[in-house]
Amino acid sequence: ALALSLRGVQHTFAANKVVKGIDLDIAPGEVVCLLGPSGCGKTTLLRIAAGLEVVQEGAVSLDGQAIAKPGKRHVPPEKRNVGLAFQDSALFPHLSVLENVTFGLKQLPSGQRRARAIELLGQLGMADYVDTYPHMLSGGQQQRVALARALAPTPKLMLLDEPFSSLDARLRDRIRDDTLHVLKKLGSATLLVTHDPEEAMFMADRIALMRDGKIVQTGTPRELYCTPIDPFVVTFFGEVNELEGVVKGGVVQTPVGAVDASWLPDDSDVQVMIRPEALRIKERDLPSDAHDHSHVVMAKLLGRSSLIHLCAHGEDGQEAHLHARVPGVFLPQEGQPIDIDLDHSQVFIFP
Ligand code: ADP
Ligand code: MG
Repeated sequence: ALALSLRGVQHTFAANKVVKGIDLDIAPGEVVCLLGPSGCGKTTLLRIAAGLEVVQEGAVSLDGQAIAKPGKRHVPPEKRNVGLAFQDSALFPHLSVLENVTFGLKQLPSGQRRARAIELLGQLGMADYVDTYPHMLSGGQQQRVALARALAPTPKLMLLDEPFSSLDARLRDRIRDDTLHVLKKLGSATLLVTHDPEEAMFMADRIALMRDGKIVQTGTPRELYCTPIDPFVVTFFGEVNELEGVVKGGVVQTPVGAVDASWLPDDSDVQVMIRPEALRIKERDLPSDAHDHSHVVMAKLLGRSSLIHLCAHGEDGQEAHLHARVPGVFLPQEGQPIDIDLDHSQVFIFP
């Protein structure tokens, strides 16, 4: 049976409809990330799955059992066998780290609770803190304990709402890594809410990208990144160059070359979206005042990559200002003439 199934779920606060008909399935052991901008309804949907909001419209099933139907049935959160962790999960301040984690393990014989809690704390890098109290821990350590507490009972479904976003960047990478490891080891199906596309791509078997109360596209990280179904999906995963064009003879002419659009009728107006990493730059041996050629406007080192602002000149005299991203240190002079090669797999055309 599916670990979680949402069918036709809608939700309204006062007169404000924030969830507008969501279908979503999570298979056993699958990690699904609900990704989307702030305010699009992610937390509301997760709260509905958890039973923290009563279903107004649609149906929720956990492990093949209908557990919520409007006006008919509402299984409360504590009876749903789900693990919950939020951005700032509160620990019980009067309980030690170990007691916080054993709290949810009432179903285990008492002799096994301690071993189970210590195992989970160890996997999340907190083995040295079992007798510590929450106020003595950093935010990141408290968050690890909250994750251990949610995971310790091995729920069939984990519901995690931005569980890493209160952590600083370096710590976040490690805790994500540890958490994914534990989720996969336990085989818990997981719905993880995040607004961070990189986090979703790292954690997810599948991503459901939401916008304004609806799911725009569902698929593997690779499917969303490489075959986005609309401009919103493209832009959500990072900055893009946007050009306008017209289809002629099955192609769109751009200042960086012709792009295939053979599935669209001639004379269609289209939007051409070019990821910065699609632009491959080669320096040309020309006088630097050759401004009728493509040339560098500005180059900045950003660390792992360099950002190049460039002016592209097409063969037919078209011109465009574009941003390119090149791996490593690449700092050509301002005015440097260049050739631009296009990686067509990072170019998308929409009518
Ligand atoms: P996200 O988690 O994607 O940022 P939320 O689900 O928290 O989005 O919120 C979606 C919309 O619903 C927002 O406009 C928010 O202001 C509104 N909202 C959330 N919770 C409530 C509530 N309890 N009462 C009224 N409006 C709410
Ligand atoms: Mg939220």
